[in-house]
Amino acid sequence: MKEIKQGIEYKMTILTPVHVGTGAELNASLECVLKKENLWIIDYDRLLSDPKVDPQDIAKRMEDRGFKIHRYLQEKALSAKALAKYELPNKLISGDGFPNRIIEQIRGSLFRPYIPGSTIKGAIRTALFWYFLKNDTRKLRLAKELLKNLRDVDERYLDDEIEKVLFGKDPNYDLMRAVYVTDSTPFSTKDAGLRVVWVYAPSQTGFVKKIKTLRSGRTFPLKNYAEVIEPEQMCTTTVKIDEYLFSDICERELHFRNRYEKIKIIPQVCNQFAQKLVDLEMKYYAGFDELTKEYDEKVAAPVRRGEFVLQLAWGTGIATKTVLELIGDPNLVENVRQKFRRRGAPLFDMVHTSCGGRVSFDRRRQTLVCNSCDTTELILGKNVFFPKTRKIAFENGKPAYPMGWIKLEEA
Ligand SMILES: [Zn+2]
Repeated sequence: MKEIKQGIEYKMTILTPVHVGTGAELNASLECVLKKENLWIIDYDRLLSDPKVDPQDIAKRMEDRGFKIHRYLQEKALSAKALAKYELPNKLISGDGFPNRIIEQIRGSLFRPYIPGSTIKGAIRTALFWYFLKNDTRKLRLAKELLKNLRDVDERYLDDEIEKVLFGKDPNYDLMRAVYVTDSTPFSTKDAGLRVVWVYAPSQTGFVKKIKTLRSGRTFPLKNYAEVIEPEQMCTTTVKIDEYLFSDICERELHFRNRYEKIKIIPQVCNQFAQKLVDLEMKYYAGFDELTKEYDEKVAAPVRRGEFVLQLAWGTGIATKTVLELIGDPNLVENVRQKFRRRGAPLFDMVHTSCGGRVSFDRRRQTLVCNSCDTTELILGKNVFFPKTRKIAFENGKPAYPMGWIKLEEA
């Protein structure tokens, strides 16, 4: 693998469905026409300029909560395809239910989906974060001090604080300034698909759909309908290191140079990190035969071959959990857990990998204990993990893909 110095152009292949959201949702009744094969997103500008449409009439009818755009189009004998901004393949089957809301994929000109450079860079940053900490005892000690002396840190900012130890105290001094990643080239609108994505969480009986309980006591499993970029689709992106920031003149101010050798080997670093993720994920998905088979072929195989793979879009608490896992000190974990338990955040709960039982800290014996199988002397990062919920995309009504894996090859 080439070192990244001058810009390297990478061919990107989607390994498992990727969703990069805009934060917005499509209202299915108002904007979408869903047929067995396709989903059409209606362009209202075009609709309102159609001679068959009376703008005042439609505005009035839309005030009715039961308004459905597909019925309206049917009534007026208008074609959804002709009035669509874009269309995408519908990967839902009848058992997946009917979406009310669809989370929207970020799109560029002509509604073509793409992956922003910042999203790719975020995934690289997570891998570098793990790698630097693992190999820099001084930084690791600084991160440890920070977690030991936690005062009033909001959980949302805890990761930021820890990342500053690694990457620099403010954005100007952030090492990632030296890494450029371009937005991906656009995919075709038909490279996207509509899928249902379920949230899974570990439990004593294995990996199960996460259940949400409302105040009323009503429960339902968590799922989203999402526009995703489909597996096997391809595009390109360019990754570049800004050599100037490592020059003599910048060194006095930025102090990046000691990390120069590491940053040049981003692909290798990302693969080591991916290897760790894959090992962990495979344990979690044990028992899900279809999922593990897909995962092994689509994600684990490229990792084994040493190809450059990344998982996009991570959640909160990742930096903190990484530090805790690397340090493996149960007292430190307990300190963090106590701080956040008071705020009612189950963010740092722990699970025994072999049985799925909850793990707690036995202060008297100074050891982590599994509440379910009573194993003691458990070690965080080895046989105890922070259970991340995982988003699983379905195919033909069954769990099929973990979300967000891509592969990059030199073009
Ligand atoms: Zn156990």
